[in-house]
Amino acid sequence: MPYIALDDTDSVKGMCTTFLLTEIIRNLPNLDVIGYPRLVRLNPNVPWKTRGNAALSVRLGKGLGRRYKVGEMDGKEIFAYERGKEHGNIADVYGKAEKLMEEWAVLEDEKTNPGFAVSHRKTSPAFYWKAVRGIVGLEEAINELEAAGAIYRGYKNRRGLIGTAAALSWRPKKRTYELIAYRERERWGTERYVDVQSVMEMDKKFPETFDNYDYENSYLAIAPRTPCPILYGIRATNPERLEGAHKMIVSESAERWMIFQTNQGTDDNIVKKRISDLKGYESVKIMGKVVNEPKTIEGGHVIFSIDDGTGSMDCAAYEPTKEFRRIAKELINGDLVEIFGGVRERPFTLNIEKMRVIRLEKKAVKIHNPVCPECGKRMKSTGRDGYYRCRKCGIRTKGGEETQEVQRDIKTGWYEVPICARRHLARPLRLLR
Ligand SMILES: [Zn+2]
Repeated sequence: MPYIALDDTDSVKGMCTTFLLTEIIRNLPNLDVIGYPRLVRLNPNVPWKTRGNAALSVRLGKGLGRRYKVGEMDGKEIFAYERGKEHGNIADVYGKAEKLMEEWAVLEDEKTNPGFAVSHRKTSPAFYWKAVRGIVGLEEAINELEAAGAIYRGYKNRRGLIGTAAALSWRPKKRTYELIAYRERERWGTERYVDVQSVMEMDKKFPETFDNYDYENSYLAIAPRTPCPILYGIRATNPERLEGAHKMIVSESAERWMIFQTNQGTDDNIVKKRISDLKGYESVKIMGKVVNEPKTIEGGHVIFSIDDGTGSMDCAAYEPTKEFRRIAKELINGDLVEIFGGVRERPFTLNIEKMRVIRLEKKAVKIHNPVCPECGKRMKSTGRDGYYRCRKCGIRTKGGEETQEVQRDIKTGWYEVPICARRHLARPLRLLR
């Protein structure tokens, strides 16, 4: 039974590759969907990525076994089957997909370089991990497609074949789901109507959904802000709850909707690293002690460094991470932390997405200057940091102040950036448990 995979058909000016996948399903009515359609996010740090760096795939055939609803289109329900058998002609499937690619892909945008493939076999599992964690070249992707016996086509510079090969290689370990609802075509590019109150109510009623609304920043996270066909996307750990959640949303009419199985919220991109081994464009977790206490720089960004014994690394909580910066600012030298984030090349910093505070140093403040070891009188500060002098005996000392421990305004445990700053692959803390 063939898989169809595709990537990079959209642009910042419009379209969405997930929509094109629904069109492919719609235009092959004699074939059933086998398993959930898949939406695979790739390395978010790749510099030439398209918008969300998502690639798509679906398997088609004659459905067998249990069926479950995965969407609605043209007023009809769309079902997927848990199993299937070969059905239809692979050349027809390829021809139909090709026609739709050419009809819908934003080929006139220089940054849009579509690719698609039809294949009976998947590409190697290792290719997915490379594409989500590192940087893969076009040639490598083509080798994968060739090895799988895929028939494929890339347009323009053909970079979309990389995501195409990656979507074909994903075997989910962790997975989440997203129900994507699409706008009526005549509304594309206009302002969306999605009632915020209804999203908050849905958010409370369906705890299996996540990242719907950022209460702290009054940010509606389910609706995009681009002129694309998506009305909204609801993410969840349990796909069976998504239709109910979707029905609670009050909005302009949705022309169709579909549930995708995704690698969003899985942390699949994260690799544990030592600081001396860090490279640009990776997503990593590193553990170390704070060595340069946080300071706020121009633009409201908070920067500190950690050291793991192999080197030190600047970690940044940028302004868009909002209230997370308040947490970061509470760190002091010696605190042991584990930081999750993306490595930025210039400047070479770790863009913090999540943080685990493992051990907190005791924080003390000076309450009195030291007393003179000769005469027992209180010494005076010399003005140089940490040095004191006795006025009577002239003795100079360093340190020895009387201090008092103060309460820390941070606790050990996990912290994450708010929903408004969260990236697709980042695993929300509520899903870590
Ligand atoms: Zn003295």
